[in-house]
Formats: sequence, C-alpha cells, structure tokens
Amino acid sequence: MNAIEAARHYFNQAADHMGLSQNMRKLLLTPKREAKVQIPMQMDNGEIGTFIGYRVQHDDARGPMKGGLRFHPEVDADEVVTLAQLMTWKTAVVNIPYGGAKGGIAVDIKKLSRGELERITRGFIDNIHDMIGPDKDIPAPDMGTNAQVMAWAVNQYEKYHGFSPACITGKPLELHGSEGREEATGRGVVIVTEAVLKQLKKTLSGSTVALQGFGNVGSFAARFLHEAGAKVVAVTDVAGGVRNSEGLDIPALTRWSADHNGLAGFPGSESVTNDELLRSDVDLLIPAALGGVITEEVARDVRASVVVEAANNPTRAEADEIFHKRNVVVVPDILANAGGVTVSYFEWVQNRQHFRWELARVRKELDRVMVDSFDRVWNIAQEKHVSLRTAAYIIGIGRVGRATVLGGI
Ligand code: GLU
Repeated sequence: MNAIEAARHYFNQAADHMGLSQNMRKLLLTPKREAKVQIPMQMDNGEIGTFIGYRVQHDDARGPMKGGLRFHPEVDADEVVTLAQLMTWKTAVVNIPYGGAKGGIAVDIKKLSRGELERITRGFIDNIHDMIGPDKDIPAPDMGTNAQVMAWAVNQYEKYHGFSPACITGKPLELHGSEGREEATGRGVVIVTEAVLKQLKKTLSGSTVALQGFGNVGSFAARFLHEAGAKVVAVTDVAGGVRNSEGLDIPALTRWSADHNGLAGFPGSESVTNDELLRSDVDLLIPAALGGVITEEVARDVRASVVVEAANNPTRAEADEIFHKRNVVVVPDILANAGGVTVSYFEWVQNRQHFRWELARVRKELDRVMVDSFDRVWNIAQEKHVSLRTAAYIIGIGRVGRATVLGGI
C-alpha cells in the first residue's frame, strides 16, 4: 500500500468501528471540487516554463475549507486529494470550524530564483482566486512555501477582491500574520509528545529523540524539545544528517544550518543517513519530513517506543500494523501536527476582528486545544481498545459525519 492508499485504509479502519454505511463513506471521501490548472511563467532566462498547480477542496460540512499550499516536485493530483482529506479530519479532531483542502504546484523550488518563485505564486493565485476566500477556502504554508510566499499570494488575491487578510494564513507579521504561527506546528508536536509521555508515566526531560526533517516543523520541534530537556541525538535534513549520542546542541545546530545551508558537517557530530536515523536507538522517533517514509521494513527495525507524526502521512499502512503489534505508540499526524492549522485559525479570527493577540495568548490557547484534543483521543483509544490513530479518525469522521447529516444535502 502506498502513502495515498494508507490514508483511505485508516479512514476505513475507523469507519468499520463506527459501523458507517458504504454510502456515507463514499460521501465523506469524495472531494467536493478538484482544480488542476496550467501556470505559464516567463523564466529568468527568457524562456516560457509551464507548471501544473492543484487545489482540492475536500469537505466543507464544518466550515470554510482550510489547508496548505505545497511546492514540491512530487506534488500530483492523488497526493493533493489525500492531503486535502487529511485536513478535513485534522480540523475536526482539534474542533476548529473548518473543512479540509490542500493545494500545490509540482515544482522544485531549489531550481527557481526569488523572482520566479514570486511569479509562479502570483500565476497560481490568478488561476484559483475565485475558488478561495475568507469564507470559502483559506490556503496557508506547507512544504516548500513560507510567510513570504503567503505575502505574494494575499497581495495577488487582493488585486481582484480588495483588502482581505483572512483569505490566507501564515502571513508575515507585517501583513496581518499572527504571533506564534511560524512555530505553531513544531510547538504543537512537542505539546502532544509531552501529553503522551505523561500517560506512559515518562517525561520529556531526559528522553532521547531522533528527528527526521529540519524544515519549519522539524526545526521548531527541535527547539522546543531541547528547551523541555529532551536529548535530540539525531537529526536529518534533505541533504544529510548529524548525530551525537550525548545530545545535539540545538541552538548551535540551528545557527549552523542557517549559515551553511544544511546540517552536514556540524562540529562535534557524526554523519547519519535517513535510514540510520529511523532505526536509531532512542525513546522517541519524530518524522517531520515527507510522507510514506516509514515502510514495513523500517517499522520492524524502529527501536523507539513512541512515534510522533509531525509530517503528514509518514507511516505506510503495513508499517502501522507492525507498530500496533509491537506496541509502539503512534501519535497520528491528524492530531500531532494540528498545531499549525490551529494557529492559522487564531490568525483568521484576529484578521476578522482586526484585533491582534499577543504571543502569550496564542501559546496558551494552542496549548489548551492540543492538550484537550490529545486527552479526548487518548480516552477514546482506551475506551474502544483501538490505536490513537483509529481513535483520532473516529472523532474526526464522527464530527464531519454528524455535521453532514444535520445540514442535509
Ligand atoms: N500545511 C499545514 C498542515 O498540513 C497547515 C495548514 C493550515 O494552516 O491551513 O496542517
């Protein structure tokens, strides 16, 4: 089963527990709307480049659709549909008033200049501006995009629709972004990690961690893990990785990575591959990069007793079965990485009220949402004797299903 089939498998596992009819499954799984658009762009060398962009709006039973924009060479229609569906369950698990969506462009941003990145972003928004909006569908950053890309996106949207900061989240602070949005996904990951360890009568302080990915999510997760006293012993990024069994100095590693465009060569560390990282002898494994990285073979070799899915869809279905049999506790993506979309929601609320929150308020509200959501998932898992993943899907599908039935067709 590939990463895309895995998401459907997880849905069906929960749907079986819930006794959901085939008709209801079909209704909940079918995306509302899928757009595939051509983005022609003048490249810096004068040539014309043609790119393909996607926006999939999966479900709006609980509110406007919400989800990131991913710029990555592997983006395709199937992946975007899957990620849009995950957003529907994710917003429902943390009970924020949104549905799910996702978009992206199949492009390698490392091959684009800054000017080309801006032009491709604006070209994409030209194509989808009528589909999105503060009450319809609200994009945000995802892999390969950031606050600057969101600034161009909102600026382009406003050329058609006038001042509307709430049409996009993850914007820079200077352009109606929120305090704490950039750190939010990584912070949320660490909050749920603390919560699961508490249930297992363990603490983050002194625990050893292997972290795959040092992008927005991974780097902030590393920072908060380090601040909480965990020992981050191995980290990888797209180009390589570093390890130190005594624990890496995360603030120094973060500076090193910024100055040297990657982790490799960090003084006082040995190099480590992704394969080695996933099999590290640690307490906690946190995949915070691409989907589908934990295969059946990897799952057999994982030595961590807790896996926290900071990435979207990192575990293949067969691997999940193995974790279940081996009693490896997996905190699923739709709960573990929901901190980002939760603070996106706070940003949208602030934009709509034209009232700015301070960082302390954002953090406090985020902590509350993540802890409450975790507790609910944990309790359902205990009550029904299911994995945390199935429990999270039961909550998410249940909320979306009830909203759908109450609203009617
Ligand atoms: N891209 C992030 C995710 O996968 C955030 C989405 C958002 O803030 O809307 O959850």
